[in-house]
Amino acid sequence: MEHSNPSVPRKLPAAGAYRLTIRLWRPVRLSVGRLGRVSLPAGAYYYCGSARANLPARVARHLRRAKKAHWHIDHLLGHPAAEAIEVRAWTDRTECDLAAQALGSGGRAVAVGFGSSDCRRGCPAHLIYMGKTHRQSRSQPRPSRSPCEPVTWSRRQGRTRSKQPSA
Ligand SMILES: [Zn+2]
Repeated sequence: MEHSNPSVPRKLPAAGAYRLTIRLWRPVRLSVGRLGRVSLPAGAYYYCGSARANLPARVARHLRRAKKAHWHIDHLLGHPAAEAIEVRAWTDRTECDLAAQALGSGGRAVAVGFGSSDCRRGCPAHLIYMGKTHRQSRSQPRPSRSPCEPVTWSRRQGRTRSKQPSA
């Protein structure tokens, strides 16, 4: 049994797609499994993932620094210069939808293949660089048409809130 982490978001759906907003405080070079060495500029990133079950546990794992690196993202989030600052989740989107949306709003795949080894849709990566100064409003997916609202958690606020999509 693991200790509960006070920064673990609550109220996330059990399954669906999620997007971590990650702040990288300085440029880093990482050795990332089979991808090899990647150079990541400082700034904001979106990491898009999905879970068929246990989504909250998956996110909690992302937010825990001490762990054995298994996914590409573990290498980034284990770095002291990286910080996950927000997570949002959707039940009616896929990780590829979220990656495409990020790319469509000015994001770039600076590490091709990062997080997308098992992608079947041809995303260049599931880690998208959003630039040095990231504005949240620039890249919000359109309001969900499903009754399930996206759930936001932000480290700064330290609590989870449901966002009412604006019509
Ligand atoms: Zn994809």
